[in-house]
Amino acid sequence: MAQQSPRYRFAPSPTGYFHVGGARTALYNWILALQTDGVFVLRIEDTDDSRNHPQWTQGIIDALAWLGIDSTDSHFEGPYFQSANAGLHIDAGEKLFAQGRAYYCDLSTEDIQSRANVSGRQGYDGYSRDRGLGPGPGHVLRFRVPEGSTIVQDEVRGEVVFDNATIEDFVLLRSNGSPVFLLANVVDDMHQSITHVVRAEEHLPNAPKQQMIWEALGATPPRWAHVPVLVNEQRKKLSKRRDKVAVEQYRDEGILADAMKNYLMTLGWAPSGDTEIVPFQKMIDEFTLSSVNHSPAFFDIIKLQAFNADYIRQMTVADFIAACDPWLTGERATWDTSYYDARIFSAMAPLVQTRVQRLQEVPSMVDFLFCEMPVIDDASFTKAFSQDWAVPTLQAIRRGFETVEWNADALKAIVEKVGEDNSLKLGKLQAPLRVAVTGRSVGPPLFEPIELLGRDATLKRIDEVLSRKVS
Ligand code: GLU
Repeated sequence: MAQQSPRYRFAPSPTGYFHVGGARTALYNWILALQTDGVFVLRIEDTDDSRNHPQWTQGIIDALAWLGIDSTDSHFEGPYFQSANAGLHIDAGEKLFAQGRAYYCDLSTEDIQSRANVSGRQGYDGYSRDRGLGPGPGHVLRFRVPEGSTIVQDEVRGEVVFDNATIEDFVLLRSNGSPVFLLANVVDDMHQSITHVVRAEEHLPNAPKQQMIWEALGATPPRWAHVPVLVNEQRKKLSKRRDKVAVEQYRDEGILADAMKNYLMTLGWAPSGDTEIVPFQKMIDEFTLSSVNHSPAFFDIIKLQAFNADYIRQMTVADFIAACDPWLTGERATWDTSYYDARIFSAMAPLVQTRVQRLQEVPSMVDFLFCEMPVIDDASFTKAFSQDWAVPTLQAIRRGFETVEWNADALKAIVEKVGEDNSLKLGKLQAPLRVAVTGRSVGPPLFEPIELLGRDATLKRIDEVLSRKVS
């Protein structure tokens, strides 16, 4: 018989921005589907009306597309919506009841608690197992957990054995008849012929229960893989209240999709060789679940930014310029775009490209070129002009600039000469000039932008600062 091609799935609940942990799980599934010429099913688990919103669903689809998990690719299937399958979930619950694998129970939460208080054992004690109840108001349907143990073969963690005595008879259908996550998730996986469930470790305790449901419904369970959680630098699980976890936020700051993909893949896994920064194809060629680390992975923003800086440097200048566009003239620009001049930015781009970690840093490196007068940062001004030599040397530079041939090398030579005359190193001496021209004490190399700015504008800026200093 022909081997069925593997069917992976990613099953997010659309309850907020797209979490980086979810993105990593999605990438693992996507890579596995590509590797095996299998299928990646996107299923939106939208059954919790109080927490789901359509805009989050669109956000997930957009963020997946940004990461290259592309709905037009032949390996992609969906999105399916869990809410559309409620009938199937309920049918499965009723089938389990008809087979005696599930039973109805009318105990309220308070009843269960008082019984637990008396027995001293927490949780539900199977009270209604043999009471022969049928469906009715206030009745929930519970799975009859068999005796023995359940072995989950996990591709990341190996064999995980659960003692069934520690698993209470769990609810499948609520008293209003609606299916719970455990059941809906299994029935959808079954209906969508999923062969591999690769998901976050927090779902490992659900696996034995879900495996029991699969078996009770007469189907072969999928292969399981539970990937370790992501933690912050305090080793606490990444949380959307405490940590920066939204993929959309990193995208909007100018983390490149390729850098994000590469970094997420290295959380708990490493490609062969001496660098973790590798082409996506190498990750497809080499990734295996069995080589994923068991321990929690530290989501290190500093390292992500360093990956991004590397990816930025690898771009052609033309691609870099195009990638910056949203921050320069597009929807992410935070300045008056009417001053923007693409020709000037193209000349500056190679200098900027090697100095930024995220694209959102680009405007602050070039904004002084696209305005009448830069806004002078007070602290930089005070520091640059704190020495006695600052004003006279800037005046000398200004005199040189009045007549020099206007190009970066000649401008630099003027400043160096003033430095020699005053026994000052270039780095020190150019600080007042930098503040005058750019408004700041740090930035890209100075003489290329001064050349681009032109003589008149440069002299005007120097005069402005000198007059400020004198007044
Ligand atoms: N909807 C679940 C979640 O977002 C995923 C369950 C699963 O992958 O099986 O946590």
